[in-house]
Amino acid sequence: MNGKVMPSVAIHQEGRPSHPGSRGVRVALYTFGCRLNQAETAVIEQSFRRSGYQVVDIGEPADVVVINTCTVTENGDADTRRLIHRVVRKNPETRIALIGCQAQVQRDKLLQMPNVHWVVGNADKMDFLSILQQGLPEEPVVRVSTIPRTSFTIPVAGIDPRHTRANLKIQDGCDFFCSFCEIPFARGRARSREFEDILREARQLVAAGHHELVLTGINIGTYADNGRTITDVITALMEIPDLWRLRISSIEPTTIPDDILNLMRQESKLCRHLHVPLQSGSNRILQQMKRKYRAEEFAQFIRSVSQKVPGICLGTDVIVGFPGETDEDFAETYRLLKELPLAYFHVFRYSRRDHAPSRHYHPPVDWHTIRRRSRQLRELSARKRRLYYQQFIGRWETVLFEQQKGDAWTGLTDTYIRVKVQSKRRLHNQLLPVRLNRIDGQTMIGTLP
Ligand code: SF4
Repeated sequence: MNGKVMPSVAIHQEGRPSHPGSRGVRVALYTFGCRLNQAETAVIEQSFRRSGYQVVDIGEPADVVVINTCTVTENGDADTRRLIHRVVRKNPETRIALIGCQAQVQRDKLLQMPNVHWVVGNADKMDFLSILQQGLPEEPVVRVSTIPRTSFTIPVAGIDPRHTRANLKIQDGCDFFCSFCEIPFARGRARSREFEDILREARQLVAAGHHELVLTGINIGTYADNGRTITDVITALMEIPDLWRLRISSIEPTTIPDDILNLMRQESKLCRHLHVPLQSGSNRILQQMKRKYRAEEFAQFIRSVSQKVPGICLGTDVIVGFPGETDEDFAETYRLLKELPLAYFHVFRYSRRDHAPSRHYHPPVDWHTIRRRSRQLRELSARKRRLYYQQFIGRWETVLFEQQKGDAWTGLTDTYIRVKVQSKRRLHNQLLPVRLNRIDGQTMIGTLP
């Protein structure tokens, strides 16, 4: 372990005051897991830039590598280990900071890993800049505090120069305690961001050129701040003049107010896209999972949304191999997903988590069965996506362009269809009408007027 203290000479970058200790220090950041983690990393990265640190890509030599971890599945744990080994192999001098969900629930395990100088849980990770500014410790610094239940603010805007869309964090934590999920332990209980603070960051993100914002959180439908709900947040955000689009990320099925659907059908700035986790189509398994609905209620909800908001893109999550999931349970899930007007689903293999009550459930489903079931669902999802796309052939939709590859540009419709067009013009961050002509895998090929 290197016990040196960071150099303490101030520099100025991008016209902002730098902090003593930031001079020439190269920091790389990497995010595992969900959109919320991405939103938080963007904020932490901005705080480094504003303080004069040099932010570099993860493959480049760095003095400090900050890894924002995820603990939703065992894969998340293995991914962190692999990344650490890759970083250390390339640069044995790098100091590593492990922050976020894994740090919150597995600090002792993480401290065994090479080059780890900081383990910082979710309560403290947004302050990682000030922890780093205290210099390099002789011993690893561990900050894993109890996560407060109060509402919160985020002082720095997560402007993300690499992406067109920006994530906007409005909520954190969860009180639902689904039996398979470690989130209430890793991220604490549900709490909301102060309403005005959300608007302030949103205005800054839009002014910086992010014309599409994605609302993120763990259980955003439970947003509550001084009587304000998620509908109030959406309505206020839609007033921002240069905001073109507002997208809701994952939202629990029992928490979606009708007002949101009405806004979507009015062709407002609110994208016609909802990602509503189902997890299982078997009532027996849903009950074991401690989900808050039965399969028929979920089905009725999805059907009514698809009628109320024509063309809406509805996606879902599903877990295969939950303990005790029989062939019949799986068949019910498969049937339900097949019948419902869903455009795609994300399939997760059940993962036993140390803090989740389901770790005691039996019998485990064998690995081959989990693999077969998840393959079947992935194939079904690909067919459903194609079916969903077909209704758009020949139609004009607006696309917000993001990336260029050769002469081709890609972007998204509000209904989350990735569209590719040929153009020699620079289309980055432009919202343009496109005629959708055909399907090519998970993309639609279109033409500009
Ligand atoms: S709703 Fe359930 S699955 Fe989602 S974060 Fe909360 S406890 Fe986890």
